[in-house]
Amino acid sequence: MKFAVTTLLIFLAAEFNPVPEFNPVLGSLVWVEDPKAAWIDGEVVEVKGEEIKVRFTSKKTVVVKASTVCQKATEAPPYGVDDMRNLAYLHEPGVLQNLKSRYGINVIYTYTGNMLIAVNPCRKLPYLYDKNMMEQYKRADFGELSPHPFAIADAAYRGMINGGKNQSVLVSGESGAGKTETAKQIMRYLAYMGEGRVIEQQVLESNPVLEAFGNAKTIANNNSSRFGKFVEIQFDQRGRISGAAIRTYLLETSRLSHVSDHERNFHCFYMLCAAPPEDVKRYKLGKGNPRTFRYLNQSKCYELEGVDDSKEYIATRTAMGIVGISPDEQDAIFRVVAAILHLGNIEFANGKEMDSSQPKDEKSWFHLRTAAELFMCDEKKLEDCLCKRESVTCGDPDSAAVSRDILAKTIYSKLFDWIVHKINSSIGQDPDSKSFIGVLDINGFESFTTNSFEQFCINLTNEKIQQHFNKHVFKIEQEEYTTEEIDCSCIDYVDNQDVLDLIEKKPGGIIALLDEACMFPRSTHKTFTDKLYLTFKNHKRFIKPKLSRAKFTICHYAGDVTYQTEMFLNKNKDYIVAEHRALLNASKCSLASNLFPPLSEEPSKASKFSSIGSQFKQQLEALLDTLSATETHFIGCIKPNKLLKPENFESKSVLQQLRCGLVMEAIRISCAGYPTRKQFYEFVDQFGILAPEVLDKSYDEGTACKRLLEKVRCKGYQIGKTKVFLRAGQMAELNARRSEV
Ligand code: ATP
Ligand code: MG
Repeated sequence: MKFAVTTLLIFLAAEFNPVPEFNPVLGSLVWVEDPKAAWIDGEVVEVKGEEIKVRFTSKKTVVVKASTVCQKATEAPPYGVDDMRNLAYLHEPGVLQNLKSRYGINVIYTYTGNMLIAVNPCRKLPYLYDKNMMEQYKRADFGELSPHPFAIADAAYRGMINGGKNQSVLVSGESGAGKTETAKQIMRYLAYMGEGRVIEQQVLESNPVLEAFGNAKTIANNNSSRFGKFVEIQFDQRGRISGAAIRTYLLETSRLSHVSDHERNFHCFYMLCAAPPEDVKRYKLGKGNPRTFRYLNQSKCYELEGVDDSKEYIATRTAMGIVGISPDEQDAIFRVVAAILHLGNIEFANGKEMDSSQPKDEKSWFHLRTAAELFMCDEKKLEDCLCKRESVTCGDPDSAAVSRDILAKTIYSKLFDWIVHKINSSIGQDPDSKSFIGVLDINGFESFTTNSFEQFCINLTNEKIQQHFNKHVFKIEQEEYTTEEIDCSCIDYVDNQDVLDLIEKKPGGIIALLDEACMFPRSTHKTFTDKLYLTFKNHKRFIKPKLSRAKFTICHYAGDVTYQTEMFLNKNKDYIVAEHRALLNASKCSLASNLFPPLSEEPSKASKFSSIGSQFKQQLEALLDTLSATETHFIGCIKPNKLLKPENFESKSVLQQLRCGLVMEAIRISCAGYPTRKQFYEFVDQFGILAPEVLDKSYDEGTACKRLLEKVRCKGYQIGKTKVFLRAGQMAELNARRSEV
């Protein structure tokens, strides 16, 4: 039976604001927004029309507009609630307070419906992740136990086994928020569902291997992933892991030749320097002192607190063995890593001829010889490759240094791809597998003082994920409303298709214009930027900054970001300098030569122009196609403070993350509809006391609920087939009335 909701509709259309209407009176408890502390609670001590005076616990008072404050619950549970949707008032300060009070007692996980919010504890909490814990979650239904990544992993697993649908878990958050750590717990749980066979181990041990080569210390995180990752874990008929496929995205190779202060290069370099003496000798690293290598000594940061690089080296070697990288292959990998360090130490001086250069001194000659020896390539050819005028450089010492760094970066990125490929082929894909669970660990939205092409790509990813997320949350809400046969026209979502079009529309989007610029030899970043200004002068998501001619701003869903275009063209070009390819292709080391097959064997590259931006866009499209065909689970990770110190919850920064990330949007969509849902019997149980007469009569449960709500003059709610749907704030109102009875 469909309920008549015409009058309600008018009401709902008028009230679209997620924060319930609230008229503070004398004595009301309220939250006031504060530029430093995010939100502070206090009591209303004076009301003068639109203006109210609020006194905080510190005795300080402020006068604010009544419409800007939020209502504070009178009796919030001291240690918060497991699901945000059970908060009396589902608004920003309520959400923030809930996370904070839970964090204070080391409860780091909270749900918002099906989404998990994880606040990084910044300390080890081993009891949370042991076998006993996994066993408990294995036996429980979702929502029965405290919020936990294992519950999400379990829901995905059950959805796959029982529902027969592929699943994915999307882990989001800014750098240091705990994405990788959480993704690893998900993978551990899924491996636990198997029987501890080799394949489960291989899937888990792929993590330390990829982290050794793809992670680095940054200001934000001592173990920051400098690449994105999607791991598709395949399962057999019996629900055991039967294969896996790892896809990686955008390794940050610029780090190789340029390390900022307080940061480090990729971990593997420091591990190798700390290797046992026989290995240091084998790879010709002198005394194994990272201070002697230019690629490592720019930032003066060598050691990591609590990390012993020599132990990490051994652990990485062991993990490499487990994932199927043979000892010979391992040897070749570390030889290439060592060679890169020597390559970086070659300096150049003017050569005898015009526009030519040569290694600066005996030391540079030594490093050149050693690099050639380790790469197993021809020393003279390596010298020519760096010092002679060729397609991209003009041969002077500065150009030679550029060419050296390009070579190092190309080799390293090829090496990383090789390792990923090797892991994939040794774990193997299961051709018979019908089901998989994908785990996505990819950088969150980035906005720094200067933003370049990397941020542009990462933020594109986040726009895509945001769109996927919005559609998903919307769909889930809509489905529940439809099942309950109630009207769902009140929920809607903000579609960010316009930003996506601006960036990736073909033709005419920013990526397409960038590719065009890269194909014209005479283009510069200035001509490219001018073209953007001209093309998008009326686009409401695009801003031309007033002063600069080398910047543009995109109004992303999470805020405006200004991009510096200087390096856009260079960073978008994807080619291997012909001489570099020839040099390494001729290497006697089969790994090195395999990294650089002749151009003719790379058919995708042979004819077409290829750019990093377009390739990435295609990768993203494939990823989103995969995700769209799965049932998605979301985990939003939160970094409680900049320095990752335990017991420090910086409300302001957390709020910022909630706003930029997926959390607030989930809440907004939920609030626009009916955040509180109660089964009829639960509702009558809880609130029957407000209208005892409805219990006496022989009403069916639904009608009893309706009469009860009419009696207490609630408006805007809906009655479904089995549940009552309440508007934001109504639950708190009912609770307050109950306590008055
Ligand atoms: P990035 O984007 O830089 O890769 P991230 O979101 O992947 O960051 P992690 O590397 O997972 O962040 O976590 C940052 C730090 O916090 C790590 O040192 C990690 O060990 C620690 N950490 C994160 N979550 C937890 C947790 N649940 N328990 C203990 N430590 C954690
Ligand atoms: Mg990470």
